Order: sequence, then C-alpha cells, then structure tokens
Amino acid sequence: MRIVVEHLSHCYNAGSPFAVKALDDVSLTIEEGEFYGILGHTGSGKSTFVQHLNGLLRLPSSLKRRKKRRESGPSPVLRVGEFDLSDKKTDFRALRKRVGMVFQYPEYQLFAETVKDDVAFGLLNFAEKGKKPSPEETERAVRDALSACGLDYDEFAEKSPFDLSGGQKRRVAIAGVVVSRPEVLVLDEPAAGLDPLGKREVMELLHRLHDDWCKTVIIVSHDMDEIAENCTRAAVFSEGRVVFDLPPRELFLHAEELVRLGLDIPLTAKLRLALRERGVAVDCDFTEDDFVRAVLALKGEKA
Ligand code: ADP
Ligand code: MG
Repeated sequence: MRIVVEHLSHCYNAGSPFAVKALDDVSLTIEEGEFYGILGHTGSGKSTFVQHLNGLLRLPSSLKRRKKRRESGPSPVLRVGEFDLSDKKTDFRALRKRVGMVFQYPEYQLFAETVKDDVAFGLLNFAEKGKKPSPEETERAVRDALSACGLDYDEFAEKSPFDLSGGQKRRVAIAGVVVSRPEVLVLDEPAAGLDPLGKREVMELLHRLHDDWCKTVIIVSHDMDEIAENCTRAAVFSEGRVVFDLPPRELFLHAEELVRLGLDIPLTAKLRLALRERGVAVDCDFTEDDFVRAVLALKGEKA
C-alpha cells in the first residue's frame, strides 16, 4: 500500500489558549516496500504524524476543512492504499488491521496473564463479527507471530509477560501487532530504552519482519547509525514540518544542516566531515561497509 500525505496539519487543543501546532503542511509519499525512517528532535511532530497513518488521529471534518480552506491553503490528502482517511465513511477498523501500530514503550500495554493471551488479543480484536478464529487457528497464528519475533511458543506461551526481560516484553508487544498480518508496520521508537543488545535484536527482528511479513516498515528513530545502515529513505521533521525526505546516501550529505537542527549524524558522516577538514574526500553511501570500502579505495587497496 502506497501512503500519500499532502498538506497535513494538526493542532492539539485548537481554539484554546493551549493550542499547539504539531504538524504544519506536511507532504510525504511512502512507497510500498520501503523501510522508512522518521527523524527529528523531541516535539518535532513525529508521533503526531505516524498516528495519522492508521486513523488514530483524524483529519478535521470536511466542513471544518472547507471553512479553513477559505482562510488558508489547499485541502489535506491522506491516503493509505485504497483507504481515503479524509473520508469519514472509511472503514477504519479494516484500515487498522492492515496498518499495524506499535507505540512507544508498547510493553506498558501488555496486560494478559500469559504471553499467548496477550498476542491472541491482537488477533481477536480485529476479527470480523461472526468470523472469530477457532482456538486452533488462534494458536497457529500466535505461534507464528511469536516465532517471527524470535520467541519460541513452547517456551514462552504460558509465561506471564511481566516475568520477561525488557527486550522480550517488547518483542511480545510487537508480536501482538504483527499477529493480524498488517501490510504496513509502523513503530514509534521501537528500540528506545533498551540496552545495546536489546536494540540490536529489535532492529534485526524488524528486518526479518520486513523481509517476510510486512511489505512496508516505518520507524520513528533517533539512532542515525541505524537509519544510515538500514533505511531506504528517511524524513526529517523539525517544528512540525518536513525539512528533508531523502535516501540516507543523500540525506547525510547535509550533515552540517542536520547538526544545526540539533540532530545527531551517523558515525560515518562524522568521520567523513573530519577527513574532509584534512583535505580528504570520501565518497560513500554512509553505511559502515561502504565507508570502509571508500577509505581503502583511497589507499589503493581493495575491501
Ligand atoms: P515527537 O514525537 O517528535 O516528540 P509529538 O508529535 O509528540 O513530537 O509532539 C509534537 C508537538 O505536539 C509537541 O509540541 C508536543 O508537546 C505537542 N503534543 C503532543 N501530543 C499532545 C497532546 N496530546 N496534547 C497537546 N499537545 C501535544
Ligand atoms: Mg514521539
């Protein structure tokens, strides 16, 4: 499913003294099959943006929009595959089944007594009326989802989610979303708060899911090395606007501007700048492998 967003703005507490403009005329297209990164400092609008993609946050009604259009620019467009999210009649339940959303710190939302019940909840929640999966179908789906998330069913199914490690809890929470087989998987800071090993495991998991389960993966992330290594494309948000929307190999050529925006840059981009100051030009795509290749090529050696 292709995601098309045009002229999307969002204001919290509109019309009150506490109004906050969280998104300001955002336009982005995310193609099917991408591993898409959303970057930006805290408060730049990343979470507000991704919550629009499965209709958790809605566009204003068309009446309000018409009124607003007389005051300001063109109408917003928000389309996910065949779903038009600006249409109130859209089947948002069907949309949510196809666009899975993993919130920040999703383990706080684990609630069931066993891992298997928690993951099954995600499945049963989306089942159409009168079409509840049988216990056998449910077990099969939960088994597959846990295994896709690197957790063995026989070992984990009967455990309490609260007895697991931080990284395991997070993977159970992700299993509870992928169990309904969404085509698009959106994750808000999926590696936040985990130790380096937990982070690596979650990122490897997302790549496996992208290969086998979900056509498109969208992650909100602070980790620039992660973005440089893995994303097909990334958008940089600042004060509710999109300032860059580029593949990493082009994005990190703007390293100095990113630093000015208060963002970190990948290690490869830092090293490239340091070498440039010493008069050495390195041409690479900002992955570690390609950086090493480029440096060795300067020395006339092969990687
Ligand atoms: P990010 O995810 O990039 O940190 P958010 O989308 O959470 O940014 O927030 C964008 C802006 O909207 C911030 O100024 C934030 O304080 C504000 N904001 C976010 N959620 C709410 C809310 N529920 N009510 C009021 N303001 C909010
Ligand atoms: Mg956020």
